[in-house]
Amino acid sequence: MKQSMVARVLVGAVILPAAAGLLAPTQARAQERTAREVLESAAEAMGGLERLRSLDNVVYTGWGQYVYQSGGGFVTGDPNAPPKWQAAHDAQRSVDLRNRRALLQDRRSLLFPLASPVGHSWNRSSTLQTGAAMLDHPLPAVLAALDASTTLGPVRAEDGLEVVEFTIADGNTLWIGIDGVTHLPYWVRSIGPSATLGDLATTTYFTGYLPYDDVWLPVGLMSRFDWRDTIAMMFQVDAYRVNVDDLPAFPGPRAGGGPRGGGPPAITVTEVADGVWDLRTAGGNGGPVMEFEDRLVMFEAYGGEAETLARIDAANGLVPGKAVAAVIVSHHHFDHSGGLRAAVSRGLTVISHRGNRGIFEEMVARPAPNYPDALARNPRRLDFVPVDERLVLEDGTMRVEVLHAVGHAHMANAVVAWLPAQRIFVEGDFTTWNWDWHWWGGALLDTAERYGLDPETNIPVHGRITSFEEAAATIDEQVERARAFCAANVEASVFFPGCPVQYSRDSR
Ligand SMILES: [Zn+2]
Repeated sequence: MKQSMVARVLVGAVILPAAAGLLAPTQARAQERTAREVLESAAEAMGGLERLRSLDNVVYTGWGQYVYQSGGGFVTGDPNAPPKWQAAHDAQRSVDLRNRRALLQDRRSLLFPLASPVGHSWNRSSTLQTGAAMLDHPLPAVLAALDASTTLGPVRAEDGLEVVEFTIADGNTLWIGIDGVTHLPYWVRSIGPSATLGDLATTTYFTGYLPYDDVWLPVGLMSRFDWRDTIAMMFQVDAYRVNVDDLPAFPGPRAGGGPRGGGPPAITVTEVADGVWDLRTAGGNGGPVMEFEDRLVMFEAYGGEAETLARIDAANGLVPGKAVAAVIVSHHHFDHSGGLRAAVSRGLTVISHRGNRGIFEEMVARPAPNYPDALARNPRRLDFVPVDERLVLEDGTMRVEVLHAVGHAHMANAVVAWLPAQRIFVEGDFTTWNWDWHWWGGALLDTAERYGLDPETNIPVHGRITSFEEAAATIDEQVERARAFCAANVEASVFFPGCPVQYSRDSR
């Protein structure tokens, strides 16, 4: 099939740069071994194929961290911006080899402040994993690669490894890299779809093999994306148990069908002023569309392809003969830029802070041959208009000022929109009426004051339209609640990130 051939070209050209002309003796020898021989030598190194195949299950425990928003949620989109992590404690992964499923249980909390206790609860979550999702570990991966239902691909050499391509029964293709000397698996690679990054390859590395009941297993697990070499996950195993007789209860298949379906999301359109409409999904996320003489300009490409295309389509039905020509993107965070690729596929100009140009160019340039999205089907270049401090969009009917936001430690390269005639302030992540906590509350009034604005109405990306005064008053309450949360933590000798809360508006 054409699609999988493209996948191999991608892997050959981009992900697995072959050492052409530099074949070392071991690499030349590697090419003489079949995929099955390579995999069988890996099984032998791990304790023997018969031993591995006799195992019912393996359970490991430990702790680790996951990168926030695939690396798209840091304070800026610069490759050297400090990363944000989510801790995973009290973790246990039960790999049920007999029934080809795994259960990942852990307690997660963001290691930085966010608006709601949900992200910081430490509640135990359980995730059922099947297919490729459970193969980021050498034991299930080697067994799956050697399964009768698996199709083995070519063997290639890479950095002293023998890399075997294999396609499992559900059609997913993966790669496993086997150390040329120890024959232990060094990594497993898979490719999945990303709304912001197109096809995203994840490579999970296995280090520190130790014997557990004569089965050699790694205590170091770490994943990287093929975008900026971002560390996606790091996990330290503190114990393996083999063939336990008290596996946890596995949940049944998820009810309600697959992750997608049901057609495009419904959009609620609210007229806010002459030539200004708010277009929002049922989840409460969205933003306004502003009418100019010959075109429309939308605020935010939020969520993902479906949400953004639905908002563009709804906007294009508002005024006969006028279509959305540009989108203002408040900041780069991957929820707020989730529809960036979709917006570019429709030919929209992207207006945002200059500091977001680099990451947006990377996002738009990435291919998606395996999981084609709107941009892969209709490739276009990024047409970017940078904002430094203030950019004015104006014609005879509409004036919109795009302003660099200040005082916002959640996102430094952010813009807001200001409609002076309508006295409307438009923002992403400055307010939401139903947030529990606020850690960057000063940004709303600091930004309005810096530019001498006197807003009457606030249109947020998250939530609902309120008066500007109600938005500011709600922030006061959210700051107070965050301070109470900090105080309760200090009582328990827990020093939470973001505490004590800094708020420039205490004396208001
Ligand atoms: Zn947000």
